[in-house]
Amino acid sequence: MFSGLGYSQTSEVSEADLVLLNTCMVREKAARKVFARINEIKNEIRKGRSRPASDNGLPVFGVMGCVAQAEADRLFERSRDIKMVMGTQAISRLPALMEQLDKGFSRVIDVRLSKESEFLELEASGRQTKHIAYITITEGCNKFCSFCIVPFTRGRERSRPADRIVDEARALGEQGYLEVHLLGQNVNSYGLSGRYHGNVGNVGNVGNVGNVGNPASAPPFAQEDGDEITFAKLLDRVAAESGVPRIKYTTSYPRDFDEEIIRVMDAHDNLCEWIHLPAQAGSDRVLRVMRRGYTRREYIEKIEAIKGARKEISITGDMIVGFPGETDDDFNETMSLVAEVEYDGLYIFKYSPRPRTPAATYADSIPEEVKTERFLRLQELQDRIQRRRYERYLGRTVEVLVEGTSSRSLSDYTGHTRCNKVVNFPIAAEALGKLVNVNINGVKSHSLYGEMAGDCV
Ligand code: SAM
Repeated sequence: MFSGLGYSQTSEVSEADLVLLNTCMVREKAARKVFARINEIKNEIRKGRSRPASDNGLPVFGVMGCVAQAEADRLFERSRDIKMVMGTQAISRLPALMEQLDKGFSRVIDVRLSKESEFLELEASGRQTKHIAYITITEGCNKFCSFCIVPFTRGRERSRPADRIVDEARALGEQGYLEVHLLGQNVNSYGLSGRYHGNVGNVGNVGNVGNVGNPASAPPFAQEDGDEITFAKLLDRVAAESGVPRIKYTTSYPRDFDEEIIRVMDAHDNLCEWIHLPAQAGSDRVLRVMRRGYTRREYIEKIEAIKGARKEISITGDMIVGFPGETDDDFNETMSLVAEVEYDGLYIFKYSPRPRTPAATYADSIPEEVKTERFLRLQELQDRIQRRRYERYLGRTVEVLVEGTSSRSLSDYTGHTRCNKVVNFPIAAEALGKLVNVNINGVKSHSLYGEMAGDCV
């Protein structure tokens, strides 16, 4: 979009006329980063600037993403450097914001959330990721888990029309991409929530994100008759029609994940053997207060179904420790769930209260040191499990998409397997951007090591 407006990208921040920061708000630590980053950039610019970009010698700073959506005009108060605030659904309106800046407005903002916001359609040829392409299939979330800010910052769940997704995947395949990821907060509910017919609240009211909806007052969701397509059907179409050799998707949601998805994965060789299925907790009591909508038993049943697939599928997940009121017994249930599932990878988060979420008002907050102690115990358990899981690969040959040189060693390539494990191996031939077979001969805590076997695949 910037190219269309006459901008070009620079890798030197001191040359930039505009610096746009994309932000995350899912935990407090992530949200705080934006101001620290602006200061870092200003220091870099002061050291490296050869020409003034604007009157004060600084570029225009813009903030986009979830912090922009939730903090809105408060960002202008917190940093005088910020001149543009672009909410999560305003990306397609970027040209209008830039035009306002060009016309001389000192600050511009668009944080409107609408019930049927348009998906940003990108040309395959305009992609900047070199080896893997990401395709948005849903935006927003209707789940309203009690800890999660996503429904408030990204709005109601919307599914992108299947034909556009399939067309984009096909174009990316023709462009030479060997791997695509289908993305959404909850990909498994693709198509099911249909279009939202209720009142999203405050649409068009710039600067106010207060009434995007909460579970108590949200009107019911209606399904569009006749044109429903489930995630399993979408996956089937993308696999059959795109011609892309490796297709991955994330994130799955346990309540919406069904066996039909596993059947489709088993039916297509280009659907990769990896499922990210966050449980968040192992205790039924905590799952209920989190409003996750499933029990531990139901979660385990889904895991068993995945383990029963024809393909050997890697399972990864997310867990939150220190949720308000989490007792030692609750936490031990999380430990036992992790031991039972034996994840190939696990992201563990210390609970962080988020504005507007119900959990932020819950009493019985867990002291920081208890959160840390539980985090470390769970991490230690997962490390042991992961080591065992990774050692199974010793002596095996895996297919790797070579994405670059390793950050640890310039003489090693790095890439991911179909089951999404990182593999490093010595550079033996020009293989960047290609699929290669690698014989695994070493295991580290979060990666595999090996030697290239023969030529590129
Ligand atoms: N939509 C996905 C889901 O709910 O499974 C993932 C969303 S979120 C971007 C990624 C992870 O951050 C979540 O799975 C959860 O473990 C973690 N997370 C979200 N809110 C959190 C909070 N308030 N405190 C700590 N971790 C949180």
